[in-house]
Amino acid sequence: MEKEIHCNRCYGEINPKESFVVTTDLLKVVTYHDDCYAKELKTQNKFFLSEPLNTNIATLHVVVGNIFIIALIFFSDPPLLLGIILLIIGGIGIFYRLYSWFKYER
Ligand SMILES: [Zn+2]
Repeated sequence: MEKEIHCNRCYGEINPKESFVVTTDLLKVVTYHDDCYAKELKTQNKFFLSEPLNTNIATLHVVVGNIFIIALIFFSDPPLLLGIILLIIGGIGIFYRLYSWFKYER
């Protein structure tokens, strides 16, 4: 059974084989057609719309960001409270990336 993905702007169905965008609006994971995402970015009330999650650069951001955070914690003595807070934020990045992959991309 094929999973249905709907665009958050035009509410049309997204064919998983075509290019689409998975992103977060504030904290909610949303999907858009490529064109609809571009239009949505230009609307003024979409301040919290983030970068696309389903791209190689998003994966790179999560990996490099978490390596940096872990290095910050290990090389600071005693471990910084800021580092631990950043680790939680980095964990949220990993969660969003994995959620996008499991739910929409595989
Ligand atoms: Zn659309």
